[in-house]
Amino acid sequence: MKIALIKGDGIGVDVAEAALAVLEAALDKTGQPLPVYDEIQAGAGYFAETGRDIEADGEDRAGAADAIFLGAIGLPSIRHADGTEISPHLRLRDRFGLYAGVRPVKAYPNAPQRLADPRAAGIDLIILRESTEGLFYSAAAHKRSLVVSDNEVMDILRITRETTIKLHEFAFSLARKRRERGLSGRLTCVDKANVFTSMAFFRQLFDEVKQAHPDMPVGYNYVDAMALDLVRKPWEFDVLVMENMFGDILSDLAGGLVGGMGMAACGEIGDTTGLFQPAHGSAPDIMGQDKANPLAAILSGALMLDYLAEKLDRPVLADAADLINDAVMAGFEDNALRPMEFGGDMGTRAVTNELLARVASQE
Ligand code: ATP
Ligand code: MG
Repeated sequence: MKIALIKGDGIGVDVAEAALAVLEAALDKTGQPLPVYDEIQAGAGYFAETGRDIEADGEDRAGAADAIFLGAIGLPSIRHADGTEISPHLRLRDRFGLYAGVRPVKAYPNAPQRLADPRAAGIDLIILRESTEGLFYSAAAHKRSLVVSDNEVMDILRITRETTIKLHEFAFSLARKRRERGLSGRLTCVDKANVFTSMAFFRQLFDEVKQAHPDMPVGYNYVDAMALDLVRKPWEFDVLVMENMFGDILSDLAGGLVGGMGMAACGEIGDTTGLFQPAHGSAPDIMGQDKANPLAAILSGALMLDYLAEKLDRPVLADAADLINDAVMAGFEDNALRPMEFGGDMGTRAVTNELLARVASQE
């Protein structure tokens, strides 16, 4: 098992190291060999030193590993000459076609909870965000906004059959796995099919894939109604599948309902590889102070193990992922995980050490 490791900038370095320490403890506990790492230099700091945002052969090496793990990349003070941010990871997403953006949203006891309703303790859902096309296709990935005149600019909402079928198949398979684990496995197609032809196509392709899964519960929601429902009754949802920009917006909304940036894990998965990273950035305001909450990175490590379990056909890696996820849940239940991000007394190292101890001692 080979992992391409990009620690990156700011707190990315600390939380990546924390995540891998916990991942190694879980592998050790399940009797699995430790991964081989290929550490790749990349990021704003690397750019400032070398004029490159990633090592010359870095992209190839990232693609050759079984998975890519990333801390965080970018620093506001260091940019390209044209003012754009240093973002080699976005090129990786593009180059390896990492279409399936997985964003788990889960409530933990004793962690911040924005909704007063007691049912909010049961929030446990996944936002599956298409990540290579949709409404970001032109603007972000390919810089193909159409400047019609001095007074008009257009973007493109691009939905392709090839990517969307893969996305929906991924969504059904994810929902099925969650149902096997006792969750509802209800899959909701989120779109705006009543207004956009592209979105009607997105839903049509969802229905095509649905034919092969007659036993799976599904629902449909327009994105505006979905935003309302995420605030009114998020505990009723399990897997939500949607195009790129809707997913960008709703994953922040949903993340805001539970915890903060320090809990937001993220996986971006394509046909041949997956990239796993906390959803937060390099947080330069708290870097080097042992204040960062490493849990988003640690939970991203668990997502990576789940991915590798399937990719390498080694189910025991999913047991290692469970160990991590259970340790985080139990740690919050016992009020033994008190990250500074939530007003607690535990810095990056203390949170990591608590989890290391829990993973090592779990039955
Ligand atoms: P990016 O553009 O890379 O998304 P950003 O400007 O949105 O970055 P982040 O780095 O994601 O900013 O973080 C925003 C703020 O949230 C940080 O300045 C920090 O105070 C807080 N924050 C982010 N991640 C964490 C974390 N893991 N633990 C504690 N606080 C965090
Ligand atoms: Mg941000």
